[in-house]
Amino acid sequence: MQPFYLRQALRFSCTQCGQCCATAGDYYVYLTDEESERIRTHLQLSRNWFRRRYLQRIEDGEQVLASGPDERCIFLNADGKCRVYAVRPVQCRTYPFWPELVGTAAAWNREARRCEGISQGRVVARSTIRRSLQDCRKQQE
Ligand code: SF4
Ligand code: SF4
Repeated sequence: MQPFYLRQALRFSCTQCGQCCATAGDYYVYLTDEESERIRTHLQLSRNWFRRRYLQRIEDGEQVLASGPDERCIFLNADGKCRVYAVRPVQCRTYPFWPELVGTAAAWNREARRCEGISQGRVVARSTIRRSLQDCRKQQE
């Protein structure tokens, strides 16, 4: 069967509520060395300080962003804005158009409980969704 996003037009409009950056310990923000280097350069920090303060290695050795207070992303400001928005990781930039979220109606609707922008606003072009999916896949290679 075709993935859900090819069977039905998906609507999405981000309200900038910041909820997807409050991981609540449910998931990690993965990032490649290139992405972490881009963020470090943006913040103009030394490698050691950046690694100690903002990165974490999880059990399987993957690199993720550290958690801030209340299990929110360490880069989420009190006003709900991302401190590194211009250089945020692919995982953030492509949300909610991830393969595991747009593949089935059940996954898409379940995610709408976390993200109030899902199924709201304008229809998102399939080409945009495809690009996000490609970026996600490249990241996982
Ligand atoms: S890096 Fe920015 S966009 Fe990504 S989870 Fe953290 S605060 Fe949110
Ligand atoms: S949870 Fe959804 S609506 Fe809120 S900031 Fe994240 S993407 Fe935007």
